[in-house]
Amino acid sequence: MSGLLTVAYLVAGVLFIRSLGGLSKQETAQKGNLFGIVGMVLAVVITAASWIIADDVSSRLNGLALLLGAAVVGGVIGAGLARRVEMTGMPELVAVLHSFVGLAAVLVGFSSYLRPASAPHAGVEHTVHAIEIWVGIAVGAITLTGSIVAWAKLKGTLSGKPLLLPGRHALNAVVAAAIVGLAVPFLNAEGTTGLPFLLIMTGLALLMGAHLVLAIGGADMPVVVSLLNSYSGWAAAAAGFMLANDLLIVTGALVGASGTILSIIMCRAMNRSILSVVFGGFGTGESKPAAPGAAPAGDVREMKADEVGLRLLQARNVVIVPGYGMAVSRAQATVKELTTTLREKGVTVRFAIHPVAGRLPGHMNVLLAEAGVPYDIVMEMEHINTDFPQTDVVLVIGANDIVNPGALDDPSSSIYGMPVLEVWKSKLTVVFKRGMAAGYAGVENPLFYRETTRMLFGDAKKSVDALVAEVRK
Ligand code: NDP
Repeated sequence: MSGLLTVAYLVAGVLFIRSLGGLSKQETAQKGNLFGIVGMVLAVVITAASWIIADDVSSRLNGLALLLGAAVVGGVIGAGLARRVEMTGMPELVAVLHSFVGLAAVLVGFSSYLRPASAPHAGVEHTVHAIEIWVGIAVGAITLTGSIVAWAKLKGTLSGKPLLLPGRHALNAVVAAAIVGLAVPFLNAEGTTGLPFLLIMTGLALLMGAHLVLAIGGADMPVVVSLLNSYSGWAAAAAGFMLANDLLIVTGALVGASGTILSIIMCRAMNRSILSVVFGGFGTGESKPAAPGAAPAGDVREMKADEVGLRLLQARNVVIVPGYGMAVSRAQATVKELTTTLREKGVTVRFAIHPVAGRLPGHMNVLLAEAGVPYDIVMEMEHINTDFPQTDVVLVIGANDIVNPGALDDPSSSIYGMPVLEVWKSKLTVVFKRGMAAGYAGVENPLFYRETTRMLFGDAKKSVDALVAEVRK
């Protein structure tokens, strides 16, 4: 049986790697998903089967009811939530799912300490196992509360403003030192007498996870979400060590490593240092005072759909910048219709995607793919930013922070330093939004007051619908 198990684990591991490879491109994402599903089904079935037919069959069969019950209840709740969740609610769902991985690692840690599955370890083996438990619970607890705070911030239950306690870095350093220091008496404790140290450390790690994410400002949340994704992977890998399950170690490491890479990519895209985000908003709130005249000045000019339609038909080059508002109003299908109509009339239309547009890495790419927008006209920020001066019309559909010029020239802005789509360099920028509300980062946007900017107020879907009717006339 152990040979079969190893082969099945190997196959599942390869399927997970192929899944990650497939998910890295839109064209192969569906195939990637399929590999992941097959790998996961194989992993669950073979792990459950190996557990049931291992020695002591009768006691294992008793546990089978528990296993099946948990799988069915969890599966039904998961499927129900996944069916009901709106695309705009995905980030919160992802954050909650990360917290479950953290919770699982904590529970596995305590159970493998209090009731080890195999005979008690001795000597070096005991120390190694105890370190696995310690690290697994610490990472799991940080992931658990960090993800819950991220969920609340994404949902809007908690304010997106960073909580900047005085001496917060010193506080984090003391808690981190305590987490490491308490490991010494724990490792030296006989049997399960180290439990009090484990409980205190868990409490500290829970506090630390919450504090680290509370200290991070709204605009840096995308990195936090991908960072928690990576923590959840490391927590799963730690659980794999505790349970001596090779596949869990491999899978956790894959999730942990890919999450780390994604976090680094997002940090580069936002011009943030990964360490500043890991250590809970290092540098947050230390922006310089506003430069004189940095606050938005001037008038906001409106433009109605009929005039925008006319300008679009006169244009040769049009760029569409989608943002969170397009997701909220579910305007992607109408935006695709507008694109098709304009292209049929000989206008070149392209999309400009900012790495943190929306509320999830790749959020806009997913929506545009779902609407059937061809991949070859969807451009990343670095490939399109230099083209704005040659662009006749830019349509900013429900985007705000990602087109804020203050990120480049206002040192007092909390998003200062983040590269943005430089839409104001085009001949005409039309911003679709309902009112003058700020974006996720909560900062004013001077773009709305620029000479070449016009506002088309209203729900994005309704405005684009009206525009489609105009250009079809
Ligand atoms: P923003 O949140 O900056 O702006 C969205 C704009 O859409 C708002 O100003 C809002 O204005 C408008 N809007 C909302 N609903 C509608 C509607 N129905 N019709 C028309 N407009 C609407 O979004 P961006 O995409 O520009 O930027 C993303 C922000 O989210 C960044 O700050 C990023 O850091 C953050 N973030 C990103 C994550 C990611 O992974 N991508 C994760 C977490 C946070 P109004 O209310 O006036 O209509």
